[in-house]
Formats: sequence, structure tokens, C-alpha cells
Amino acid sequence: MYGDHLETVCGCVVGGAGPAGMGFLFNALKSGAMPELAREGLIIVDASPNPGTGRLGDYRITANSVGDVFLDCLRDPALRDVFEPLEHSPAYWRIRRQAQSAPQLADVAELLAEASTLVLNFIVEHYGVKLWTRTTITEVVQDDDEYHVWVEAEGRTRRIRCRALVLNLGGRQDPQHLLDSLADQGLAVPPSARVLSADTLLRMNAVELRDVFASTLARKGRICVVGGSHSAFSVLENLADALEFAGLTEVTLVHRSQIRLFYETAEAALEAGYAFDPQKDVCPVSGRVNRSGGLRYRALDVGREALAKGRIGKTGVRLHMWQTLEGPVGHFDQARQALAESEVVVQCTGYQPMLPVLSYAGGGAIRLMEVKGGLDSDPSGCPLDSSGQRLYGLHLFGLGAGLGVDPRLGSEASFDGRIYGVWQFHNDASGAVIDAVLARLQQPVVQPVSVARRRVANREEQRQPFIWPVLANAPS
Ligand SMILES: Cc1cc2nc3c(=O)[nH]c(=O)nc-3n(C[C@H](O)[C@H](O)[C@H](O)COP(=O)(O)OP(=O)(O)OC[C@H]3O[C@@H](n4cnc5c(N)ncnc54)[C@H](O)[C@@H]3O)c2cc1C
Repeated sequence: MYGDHLETVCGCVVGGAGPAGMGFLFNALKSGAMPELAREGLIIVDASPNPGTGRLGDYRITANSVGDVFLDCLRDPALRDVFEPLEHSPAYWRIRRQAQSAPQLADVAELLAEASTLVLNFIVEHYGVKLWTRTTITEVVQDDDEYHVWVEAEGRTRRIRCRALVLNLGGRQDPQHLLDSLADQGLAVPPSARVLSADTLLRMNAVELRDVFASTLARKGRICVVGGSHSAFSVLENLADALEFAGLTEVTLVHRSQIRLFYETAEAALEAGYAFDPQKDVCPVSGRVNRSGGLRYRALDVGREALAKGRIGKTGVRLHMWQTLEGPVGHFDQARQALAESEVVVQCTGYQPMLPVLSYAGGGAIRLMEVKGGLDSDPSGCPLDSSGQRLYGLHLFGLGAGLGVDPRLGSEASFDGRIYGVWQFHNDASGAVIDAVLARLQQPVVQPVSVARRRVANREEQRQPFIWPVLANAPS
């Protein structure tokens, strides 16, 4: 394993060590799979200097789950010694004090960052795992039974050959995706409108938001938020809080389907006067209403208030809500007019996976098949290419990719998106990936190595400079 400086060979690469990649590593450690996973060599590659939390801590909002859900990711007898230092961590105690309420994501990220550092140090020391920080994956080439992962660090390029690649580089919001999905419904945004992504706005403070919207507010321009999920209601609240005193009086929300609210039980939903479909909206396993697709915690409060009073959060900012698919009479036309008049349209319609250039060794580009809310993959996150071929050995399940609902764990029938979240990354989602990766590492290699080597020579000619590493933690 590992090899020389010209190229590195290992069993598995974990590309991206944000909450998804780290969930995989935590789970491998606590389930006892780490020795097996690291046997042929395990390299963790992440672009940031301090991997562990990805973007999660940048969002200026509360979590969509209680603090205990995050603590549960750390609570395992197998991890007790590794996490002992957390007893002295202010971040840990802050989350513990909010075990039954939703903490700020910044606090969650601080805890996950500390826990991730402990896990990374431990697996590097005990299992010979290599951690390459400040290293960017630029390209992945599938060559028969292997993946060639091209990475760059400090201006230098090198290649890792591996049999399994767990690739979670986060998500992005492509404005064209929004325009296409609106066009599918017969809706359009005027060419003069600015399309802003929720992802960017949710990372801004009030001063930054006022800056972005100053000219629109000065002209009393219309602002339209598109989407109906947690992000949409978080954006609405952040905008209303930041901009009310700068002159914001109303916002329009255009959403495709009904706004769904989460309730622990059907009785609680009935008591609250919430209308739901007992067949389609209730999870048969847990009995929860809109378990996967419903607004929770702060977004739930904002959503409820908006539905009941037409106002956003604690502010006086009015909210007009127009449903475009099977909505009440007149809603579609109102939505079309609102979009046509908008100066700013905020995209809150989900994520696409951030991917490096993906190609076959023969030269063609690999396009991954998509489904609503993410990638079309099997329960272990193994995707299909556009010709329907499964890319064995490649696994994606983080932001923008997600996984389909596991019927054994339950969900509501009306939910047709993909599932992702920190707890899933640490448990069910990564569990299936670990099983698939271990099974693959145990299979004999199909392709003789000499063929792969011949192709490297060609690529080396194309790629200059190919200079050998002074990479952080590079194998020596
Ligand atoms: C607004 C918002 C709120 C959310 N709130 C919650 C919540 O409350 N609870 C919850 O459970 N989930 C929440 N999620 C969902 C999910 O848990 C987070 O999005 C989480 O950050 C996703 O983790 P990730 O690892 O897939 O991606 P990221 O967090 O984006 O991490 C990606 C990692 O890949 C690395 N990387 C990126 N590009 C490269 C490259 N080319 N080469 C090498 N490394 C690279 C980055 O440095 C980073 O470490 C939320 C998501 C959003 C968008």
C-alpha cells in the first residue's frame, strides 16, 4: 500500500471530511470496521486546513434538530476514551445544556470540529491512516476496477489510485437548476433579476445582508424566495430580521407543493389544527407526521406563524405565499406575476453535489444520474452514470447527493426527496457505505495493475508540472 512519491496506491480514499466524510470515519471507528478499512491504506483528503465540519458552522441559523441528536453521534462505548478530552470542552457543555432544544449551527460545528480532530488524530496514530489537509481533489478517473484521484496541494499535482472512493465535497446551488425547474412549471424569472443562493445568504450577518439588498430596498424592488423547506424559512427570517429597519415591508414565497409541518404524533398535529393526509403524511414506522419533509424547530415556528398570520417571525414583515402545484385557485398566477416583477429571487430549492471533473480512463466525461433532491444511487450511495451503469467503488451521500429513504427506517409516503443530515451521516447512511466498501476491498482486483500504469504515463505527459510532494502528511 501507499507506494512511492510518483503515485500513491491505497484501498480507500475519503474525499472530503466535512460532516458526511467524518460521519463515515466516526462510524467506521465505533463499529470496529476501521482496522479492515485501513488495512490496504486509507487516505483522507480535504481542501481545508482543519477538516471536520465543512460548511455547517458557517450558517447563521439554528439546527433543525435538538442538541441531543448531535451528542448521540459521539455517544458510543467504543469512542469513550477518544472523546474523554471533550469533558473539558465549552462547546460540548453548551450543546449539552441545549440537549432538548435546537442549538445554533455554529455551536454544533464547534463541537464537531473538536470531536473530529480527536478522531482524526486517533486513527492517524493507531491505524496508519494518512490525512492530507489543504489538498484539493481536482479530477477522478475511473479505470476498470480502480479510481484515480488527482489532487493538488501547494501548486503540486499528484495521483492516488484506490479501489473505493467515498466522495462528499459538499453541495452547490446552480442558478440554472432553479431556472430550469421554474421553466418546467411554466414560470420564469426576468433576465434583469438577480438570482441569489440561500447558501450564500445564510452565511451572511445582518450588515452584509443590508449591503446586498440596499439598492433593491431603495427602489422598493420585489423580493421573491423560491422553495418551501427549512432553508426557505431560515432565509425569510434572516432577511426580515436584518432588513425590516432598512425598509423591507414584504416578501413573496413561491413554493411548489404544500408547506409541510413536522409533528411527533398525528394527535399533536390534529390538536394544532394542522391538516394532513393520514395515509401519505404519517411515517408507518414512527407515527410521526411529515417526518422527513416537515419543518422543524425554529423553521417550524416561522412556518406556522407565516401560515397563520402572514408575517415573518417576530417582525412585522408581511409574507405572501403562493403554491404553484395543485395550489388554491389563483396561486399559480400570483406566483407567475411575483416572479415576473422580482428584482431579487432567492434560490432555496435544494442542492446539487459539488463534484470534481469525473471521467472514464478512455476519455469520456462521467455524468451522474440525478433524481429529485440528489443523485440516483443505491442504499450505499453508489451512483449510476448517465448510461445507467453503476459506478462500483464510488460512494456519495452528503449534501447535494443524499440517499433514498430506507423503508425499514420509515418516512412518509408523500416525501420523494433524498435524506441527509449529520445523524444519518454518523449512522445509517455511512453504515451502508462501510459495508459496501469493506465488501469491495475484500474482492480480488479485477484489472492487472500494469494496464493502469501504462495509462498513467499518458496522463503525466498531459499534466505538467507533476512535482513530487512536500504535502502535509504525505507518505514517505
Ligand atoms: C443551510 C443548511 C442547514 C443545515 N442544517 C442542518 C442541521 O441543522 N442538521 C443536520 O443534521 N444537517 C443540516 N444540514 C445538512 C448537512 O448536515 C450539512 O449541509 C453538512 O454540512 C453537509 O456535509 P457534507 O460533508 O456533505 O458537506 P460540507 O459541509 O460542505 O463539507 C464538504 C467538505 O469537503 C471539502 N472539500 C470541498 N471541495 C473539496 C475538494 N475539491 N477537494 C477536497 N476537499 C474538498 C471541504 O473542505 C469540506 O470539509 C444543513 C444544510 C444546509 C445547507
